Amino acid sequence: MSENSSAFSLQPPVSSVASSGIIVQKYGGTSVANPERIKHVARRLLETQQEGNSVVGVVSAMSGVTDGLIQLSKQISTTPTSREMDVLLATGEQTSMALTAMAIEALGGKAVSLTGAQAGIVTNELHTKAKIHHITPQQIEKHLKQGKVVIVAGFQGETEEGEITTLGRGGSDLTAIALASALGADACQILTDVDGVYTCDPRIVPKAQKIEVISYDEMLEMAGSGSKVMQSRSVEFAKKYSVSFEVCNSFNTQPGTIVKEESPCMEQVVVRGISVERNQAKVTITNVPDRPGCAARIFGAIAEAQLNIDVIVQDVSANGTTNISFTLYRDDLEKIGTMLDCVAQEIGAGAVRKEGGIGKLSVVGIGMRTHSGVAAKLFEALARGGVNIQMISTSEIKIAVIVDEADVVLAAQLAHTAFGLDRS
Ligand code: ADP
Ligand code: ASP
Ligand code: MG
Repeated sequence: MSENSSAFSLQPPVSSVASSGIIVQKYGGTSVANPERIKHVARRLLETQQEGNSVVGVVSAMSGVTDGLIQLSKQISTTPTSREMDVLLATGEQTSMALTAMAIEALGGKAVSLTGAQAGIVTNELHTKAKIHHITPQQIEKHLKQGKVVIVAGFQGETEEGEITTLGRGGSDLTAIALASALGADACQILTDVDGVYTCDPRIVPKAQKIEVISYDEMLEMAGSGSKVMQSRSVEFAKKYSVSFEVCNSFNTQPGTIVKEESPCMEQVVVRGISVERNQAKVTITNVPDRPGCAARIFGAIAEAQLNIDVIVQDVSANGTTNISFTLYRDDLEKIGTMLDCVAQEIGAGAVRKEGGIGKLSVVGIGMRTHSGVAAKLFEALARGGVNIQMISTSEIKIAVIVDEADVVLAAQLAHTAFGLDRS
């Protein structure tokens, strides 16, 4: 199994319906934030086992711990190596896995905690955002056969050479989904601090509703455009290996959101959900000569600096020149430094303008493939609320607009109402 290649040891597809087989349950940072919550997670894992299942728990670091470790490293060095960052960050999950296993044993259950390496998660060498190469879960299987609840540290793996790696922020989701696939699990649940995937982040749109079923593609677009309830790489993996999963609340037992293969009836809903991304920035290179090679030179320099950019817009050419704008994370703005000024000078373009304070709103739904008028409805709703659109980008199932960061919450609420998503 690999995140990159399609070569994969065929495993039975995973269903999200609980049955008496293997269940993988992932508990996020807020669910293991303190000793009381860890004990609650332990009880829940044991109950799942008592229902007749073999249970694998994947745990994140306790809430705030990963951020705290990153802050700590900054006080030591401005240029820590990514290898040492991985060694450091992996300790967060190692703490919560041991505490969870202890909590289960304190309740009279049998449990064992395993690091990513012990669980057989082998990755490539790309420290801090390593890709899973394959998983050999023999240790997990051995402990499950002995009747233990197996607690695996999320977010981490090991290279073939035995180096500790991590899987990118939010990577415990990926650990859970990849393990579910490798174990041929019967169910995979992502337990978090909300009841499921909502039509928009409920902290942004209080009238947001829980979605019952969502397709991989919709979840992927939402996760990739700011709905951080799922790590987008984990959804990519789930889609690639047909791992259906449920996102639900670790603090109650309500049914959550099922993420699965799309079915024809899903297209009846035009907009499934809305995502918001703050902390964006916009760069505009003015008066770029309208000739082949200029865009390549600009974006080649950006690629060389390893900057991730998002929406790109090129104006209609006038008098032989054009303006090119793109967005990126605000924190990456300073990495651009004077690099683009040099490129602009070299190709004979004008000034380079950089602006922070930019936000992105995305509306997502596979129904867009078969319904027209979605863009018009969105733009009308934003216009009524006086929200100015700076840039627009579309894909088959998503329309994204770039707006002033100060407007993005209002924009989300307006769009949510316009597409009939508000809870009544
Ligand atoms: P965990 O620590 O369990 O991994 P996260 O903080 O990563 O949890 O994800 C849960 C949070 O995601 C929620 O508290 C919520 O604020 C946020 N979120 C963003 N978009 C959505 C959405 N569309 N539906 C539900 N939650 C969302
Ligand atoms: N602890 C890691 C993070 O905060 C991984 C995770 O929580 O999924 O990003
Ligand atoms: Mg998360």
